[in-house]
Amino acid sequence: MHEAGIARSIAGALRGRQLDGRRVVLHVHGGDHDPDAFEASLRFHLQLEAPELAAVALELVRDPAPRLCVRCGARFSAARPDQPCPECGGASLSLEEHEQVEIELVG
Ligand SMILES: [Zn+2]
Repeated sequence: MHEAGIARSIAGALRGRQLDGRRVVLHVHGGDHDPDAFEASLRFHLQLEAPELAAVALELVRDPAPRLCVRCGARFSAARPDQPCPECGGASLSLEEHEQVEIELVG
């Protein structure tokens, strides 16, 4: 599973960092998985990889990413894979095949 690898990277990046009183914002973009299922799976794997992060406020935010409409070929930007094409309302595919996650420490 792709989420297991992402969780391992996040756990590695946060290991040894001073997180007391800080929020961790995970910016997710790209991919075509259902956002809620992806988030649930990522949180599950994070719990396995880094149980110590249970006390840290982890927030997932969906950032816009490039998509291609499969009906009319329009390119547009959308945060969620189920957002319809603004031109024709069709479904689309992510131009970034897999979800990418960037870590932001707040506070
Ligand atoms: Zn379209």
